[in-house]
Amino acid sequence: MSELRFDPVGRSWVIIAPERGERPSDFLPAPDRDAAESCPLCLFAAGDEPSTVVARRAQGDDEVLVVANRFPALRIEHHPRRRAVGPYDQVSGVGAHEVIVETRHHGLAFSALPSEHIAAIILTWRDRIADLMRDRRVHYVTVFKNSGWQAAAPHEHAHSQVIATPVRPTRLADELAAAREHFFAKERCLSCDVVNYELEARERIVEVTERYAAFCPYASRHPFEVLIYPRQHEHDFTRISDASARELARLLKRTLERLRRALSGPAFNLGLHTTPSLSTIARAHHDLDGMDLFWHWRLELIPRINSYGGFEITADVHINPVAPEEAAAHLRTLDPE
Ligand SMILES: [Zn+2]
Ligand SMILES: [Zn+2]
Repeated sequence: MSELRFDPVGRSWVIIAPERGERPSDFLPAPDRDAAESCPLCLFAAGDEPSTVVARRAQGDDEVLVVANRFPALRIEHHPRRRAVGPYDQVSGVGAHEVIVETRHHGLAFSALPSEHIAAIILTWRDRIADLMRDRRVHYVTVFKNSGWQAAAPHEHAHSQVIATPVRPTRLADELAAAREHFFAKERCLSCDVVNYELEARERIVEVTERYAAFCPYASRHPFEVLIYPRQHEHDFTRISDASARELARLLKRTLERLRRALSGPAFNLGLHTTPSLSTIARAHHDLDGMDLFWHWRLELIPRINSYGGFEITADVHINPVAPEEAAAHLRTLDPE
């Protein structure tokens, strides 16, 4: 069984998941492991392992399928066991790890799916997160997508993943602290301030729709990194309406198309930063009180066109060779219409 270990020096959680290392295909280069015949997600889509299916959402003659991960980093089992190991902390690997098979069709890229289908995927993310957030053992649920081998995608078949953790990830904890401090000092949401400023400044904007703003962040860590925020204050992604999901899907598809034209179809990571769960401990601690006022969800889209070096790993300071103003200006010229 996997376990979570906390490093008190670096203040970070790590999931030690030996079961996942049993897949030798993980260590093969991309060309050897993309064949549809050996694709486990095709087997799921064909209904070979219906017992592992968590949810389905039909979309036209295709469907979005949620399955339990066969090699989960975390499992739903009993209550998390928490203990000290010398100066360290350890929590048993309780949580959830699901795979969202985004289409039945092997080799069809997420960005090539019709926007109505992408909306169905977004609504599947919403429903799975909402369901897992009801578990009081869980501190955080998020969804992410790895596309392409350089972005750590284990399969060519379009998929995303949902992970629910029994601890609060450090980056989330740091962002919550910053958002809370800003709000209680100024009575304004920090992310609303950021979005409003970017809409005013214009130079880093990629595209704006009625409900959403896509822009390259001021301190972009990666070349052509794009954030998508709701323009109005919204703290909880699971409250997204069907109409809003359709609008987000169209913007996401258009943004991926701009990146494809700019960077010849890059590998990318897409991640959601949404509200933490009201776990038993968060309720007792009251540290999420007012979260609906100070937290604001966003999607983070990172093309994987450069690799990290020693400075990024040692100092956690990224060196980005492309100014976000230049990246945004270039992406604006590549209008998909
Ligand atoms: Zn497949
Ligand atoms: Zn806000």
